[in-house]
Amino acid sequence: MSSKRALVTGGAGFLGSHLCDGLLGEGYSVVVVDSLLTGRHANLEHLRNEAAFEFIEKDICEPFDVGKVDYVFHFASPASPVDYTVHGIPTLRVGSLGTFNALEVALKYNSKYLVSSTSECYGDPLEHPQKETYWGNVNSIGPRSVYDEAKRFTESVTMAYHRYRKVDTRIVRIFNTYGPRMQLNDGRVVPNFMKQALRGEPLTVYGTGSQTRSFCYVSDEVDGFIRLAKSDEHLPVNIGNPNEFTILECARHVINVTGSKSRITYEPLPQDDPKQRCPDITKARQLLGWEPKINLETGLRMSLDYFRKTVAEESAKK
Ligand code: UDP
Repeated sequence: MSSKRALVTGGAGFLGSHLCDGLLGEGYSVVVVDSLLTGRHANLEHLRNEAAFEFIEKDICEPFDVGKVDYVFHFASPASPVDYTVHGIPTLRVGSLGTFNALEVALKYNSKYLVSSTSECYGDPLEHPQKETYWGNVNSIGPRSVYDEAKRFTESVTMAYHRYRKVDTRIVRIFNTYGPRMQLNDGRVVPNFMKQALRGEPLTVYGTGSQTRSFCYVSDEVDGFIRLAKSDEHLPVNIGNPNEFTILECARHVINVTGSKSRITYEPLPQDDPKQRCPDITKARQLLGWEPKINLETGLRMSLDYFRKTVAEESAKK
């Protein structure tokens, strides 16, 4: 994959920016196209003077052309439940129009293509853990549908360009991922709990906290993306950590890692909040030789400096 040029849509986001680092490490030159709707310059600040890196502020819902690229990584989309609820229509637009435009770039330049999909394609799953062959249980008109259905459509368009236009596509289904560069206020559980614990505020567990998630540290996740990018698999592949925790257990881990004296409070469970989520990663293991290496406690410790710094910066602004 060396001496080649990659496009990363959504490269100013949490995952997109870590992917840029990974691709630069692989010898790629990288061009990011991002509208900065939920992405941030701060995530790419460290690449400002990197000769192999370029940033273009643009909304990919309009057709665009950045010149020849060898690889298209399509990562543009709001991705946290709070962000996609606030930006419901842009989420549907980028999953649909944005995906067409990203695929048109790949078609024009005969580029390889990898798109970020999501465990939300499985909705509130009736099969557990979730294999790639499970079709999901999604409420098509519920509050999460702007994201879930956008991503299911993204997968559909991607498979159509693969089948009808012969684009060399890949689809990664990403499960809950955490680490440095997550926005403190994007509403996701890890940044919420970290922020609350570091401020000594109560940790807000929604519902009883018995719902489960499986948390993957960002460097493991990006390693999975890069391995999939090098493979020839066109059907979706789950990339996520198969160690499953209740949200209450997650809260206790955060309290432990931060050494916080915060207590736990309970708030209402959001509508259609999936009761359980855990990837079956047999396919990634067999196909890519991939599995995550960093457990939740270690990953939270590795994220602590970032969250401490970000919480301090935010309180200094007030
Ligand atoms: N959650 C919580 N407290 C918070 C934020 C989230 O209990 O302050 C719960 C949320 O209801 C869900 C889980 O944590 O069950 C993961 O939520 P997140 O928004 O991180 O992502 P999701 O996996 O739902 O897309």
